[in-house]
Order: sequence, then structure tokens, then C-alpha cells
Amino acid sequence: MKLNALPSEFQEALPILNKIKRDGHQAYFVGGSVRDALLGRPIHDVDIATDAYPQEIKQLFPRTADIGIEHGTVLVLHKGAEYEVTTFRTEEAYVDYRRPSSVSFVRSLAEDLRRRDFTINALALDEEGEVIDHFAGLSDLKHGKLRAVGEPSERFSEDALRIMRGFRFAASLNFQLEPATFTAMAACSPLLENISVERLFVECDKLFLSPYWKQGLKALIDSGAFTYLPGLQGKEKELLKLREELSDSFVFVSSEQAWAFLILMIKPADSRQFLRLWKVSNQFQKTVLKLTAIYNLRGQGQLDKKMVYDYGRNLLLIAEGLREAQGLSVSFAQIEELYQELPIYSKREVAVNGKILIKELGLKPGPALGLILDNVEGAVVAGQLDNTKSAIFSYIAAHYPDIR
Ligand code: ATP
Ligand code: MG
Repeated sequence: MKLNALPSEFQEALPILNKIKRDGHQAYFVGGSVRDALLGRPIHDVDIATDAYPQEIKQLFPRTADIGIEHGTVLVLHKGAEYEVTTFRTEEAYVDYRRPSSVSFVRSLAEDLRRRDFTINALALDEEGEVIDHFAGLSDLKHGKLRAVGEPSERFSEDALRIMRGFRFAASLNFQLEPATFTAMAACSPLLENISVERLFVECDKLFLSPYWKQGLKALIDSGAFTYLPGLQGKEKELLKLREELSDSFVFVSSEQAWAFLILMIKPADSRQFLRLWKVSNQFQKTVLKLTAIYNLRGQGQLDKKMVYDYGRNLLLIAEGLREAQGLSVSFAQIEELYQELPIYSKREVAVNGKILIKELGLKPGPALGLILDNVEGAVVAGQLDNTKSAIFSYIAAHYPDIR
């Protein structure tokens, strides 16, 4: 099959392909970009496969970076874009189910394509727009099928991350897992315990953010593979509820929103501990936990200026989005209004600070002073106290007569 016209992303990368070829080597576009071009989806990361060795690629191009040279990948920088150029290779003997114990370079494209995960990811494209299809990936693309290249259980045993990639592609592309592939994914899923949590997180996160996340999640649940993911053992009912609770068209707006809803549904004994199991950053943990707190407060009907001030408008709107998707009552407009009406937006805007109170009112540094400042801030936010020095001084004199 031949593409009528090479999409612009490939056009822009053609000089690189052609330069490698003029040097007497083979070079093809491969992987996700070819798949996405054929699906008419946006293309990101145009990757190139070649029989040239990394050192040869480095000599051909003035600007390169060694991003994964031990796996045969050289990053080539060209006109503001980056291209991963990878030497044809096979991956042999995955002794620990994690990483290939050795990477062997091979001289043929066919061998390189054979080590790829799914047939739709094992397509290559040449400079003329001709599609090279050794594993009937084109037919699977046409029929919306995710099929492992070769013997499925062998492929998932070599690298169990492919199992998660399978669920993730089902979610992003709305493709069906071909039955033998699905069966092998389920059977090999205990091997997920050997995969690093960080890589599992990336795939789960991509799954949740996909437009057809319900489809990917269903396959994850039906296969039983969730059992081998951090903190999800025994949570089948809760995961099913997560799927059913939100409207069909709902798409998570951010990772934090997705993980907050996951926590709200599975109700771990300790939410922070659950997030730590997934080894996410402290910042991510904080935001997710704020979202669950907001969601729970909203469940009790709470919504006021202090809440908007403490958590910020954006997080409130994101939490409200979950309520909306559940068909609960929502207050988007009121959140906006409360935000507009806030007298101040941060502690720095309070007309006094600790220094001023120490210097001008003779207060002593310490926890009591901190408490006063918090109360002043709260009263200003709630609109009970004007944000002027004199009003605040009177407030302190009235509320803390014995302080000095
Ligand atoms: P995305 O759109 O998320 O980038 P992608 O298919 O391009 O999807 P990448 O992780 O960028 O995924 O990998 C590029 C290509 O490398 C894939 O299309 C596939 O051919 C191959 N590949 C990636 N990861 C694996 C893996 N774990 N096992 C086998 N082949 C893989
Ligand atoms: Mg990619």
C-alpha cells in the first residue's frame, strides 16, 4: 500500500532519511507515527529505523545526542525538531522480564519489526510513502484490532509492559484486543509485578487520559491484570464502579483528576500511602489529595470563599467536573463568582504580616502570633474584616485583649 501524500511531519524528516540512504544505508519511518498517520490521527515523534550503527549516524549529522545509545538510539536534531534514529535490532533473552539482557543489532528491517509489540506498531514507511507490512498490521488497523506480533504469550513474557501498553492502546484508539492476544495478556499479567512502578504509572495514566478509557479499563478489569498493580488487588468491584459512575462521554481533564477519582472510588485505607505506592511526585500527591478533599467537602454541600481561597478556583472547578460527570448538582458559576469576590488571593496581600505586628503592636514571635495571623487572614477572606492596617489592629485589640 502506498500513501498518496506524505504527511508534513514526515516531509520535514525526509532530509534525514535521505542523508542516511545516500550514505548507503537503509532507513524507514517506523512505529507510532506510521500507525497514527494511517489512522489520520495527529502525529508526534517521527521515529526512524536504520541498518546504520549509532556511531555511523553520529558521524553523518552535525547535531546529535546520545539518549539511548546502548539500545542503539541516537537523537538527531534537525530544524528545531528531534528524531530518534535507532539501529535495527532484536531483543534477546529477557532474563528478568524487565529489560533485554542484550540488544543485538541486525541488518534487516523485517527482524527489527518482529520484536515490536503490536502489529499496528510494526509498520514501516519508506521515503516514497510505501507502507511495509510484514505482520498484516494494515488489516488490523482497518478492523480496529490490537494483535501481538507473533506468539502473544512469548511476547508478553519477554516484556510484561506490553500488557499495559495493550490496555492503553485499546483506550486511546478504541481498538478491540484480538482474543488470543487478550488471553495471553491475562495469562501473563502476574509478570507485571516485575515491571517498575514508574513505567506502570505512565501506562495507567495514559489509559485514564484516553478518550476511550472505559474500554481500556474494562479490558484491564476483565483480564484480572489490575490485581498486579499497586494498591489495586481485590478492588474489582471498586474499579467497575469507577467505570459506571461517570457519564460515557466523560474524559478526564488531567492526570490529577483521574487519580483523585480512582482514590475516591477505591477508598484506600490511606490515600497518601496509596499514591506513594505508585511513586508519584510529592507535588502530584498534594494536588490529588486536595482534589479528593474538595470533592468530599462538596459532597457535604460546602462551598464558600475560604474554600475557593484555600484550594484555588482551578482545583474546585476540576473537582466539580467529577460531580458533573456523575450527574450530581454543580456550581461552576458560583465558584467563579466567589473567586471574583475574593478580597485577597494570597497571604502576601494581607495588609499586615508578622513583622509589622511585632514592630508596631509589640507582639512576640511564636505560635500564638501565627494563629492570630491565620485568623486575620481567614476573616479578611470571609469579608468579615477590611484588609487595612487600622481595621486589623482594632480586630486584634478586640479579639486578643491580653496578647501583649
Ligand atoms: P505513542 O503514541 O504513545 O508514542 P508509540 O507506539 O509511538 O505510542 P513508543 O513508546 O513511542 O510508542 O514506541 C515507539 C515504537 O516502539 C512502538 O510503536 C513499537 O513499535 C515499539 N515499542 C515501544 N515499546 C515497546 C515494547 N515495550 N515492546 C515492543 N515494542 C515496543
Ligand atoms: Mg511514540
